Amino acid sequence: MTRTGIGYDSHRLVEGRRLVLGGVVIPHARGLAGHSDADAIAHALTDAILGAAALGDIGAMFPDSDPAWRDADSMKLLATAVGRVRDAGWSPAQCDITVIAQEPRLAPHVPAIRAGLAGVLGIPVGQVGLKGKTNEGMGFIGRGEGIAVLAVANLEPS
Ligand code: MG
Repeated sequence: MTRTGIGYDSHRLVEGRRLVLGGVVIPHARGLAGHSDADAIAHALTDAILGAAALGDIGAMFPDSDPAWRDADSMKLLATAVGRVRDAGWSPAQCDITVIAQEPRLAPHVPAIRAGLAGVLGIPVGQVGLKGKTNEGMGFIGRGEGIAVLAVANLEPS
């Protein structure tokens, strides 16, 4: 039996912050606002993995009211979530992610992000899907106010 989880995250784009997506610092005039590093790929994927194992969500595991997670490296939070899932008898098998951002272009950074995520999940890079889309200028994403990420993850019994 395999288990499937879905995750979603969005953060506001603001000046004076680094843009971190999937653990990669992307050169851009603005970055994502948040209590942690606001890495929306790591957050959405963490929720997908926790959801597949029915282990709750990132907000319950790492509350943003807790100073311990201030400016946290979200790839470390993802690694912690993967560890909890493994403790529950599941192993990541595959994931697929869509980043919706009017800018910057994700394509140049896709290989580095996939490699980093594969490392944290302990799976081959060929089992990590990652695509970037714009929102065709529509809505908050189209106006460049923020970035959203969708993620799906599959787990198999370990
Ligand atoms: Mg988030």
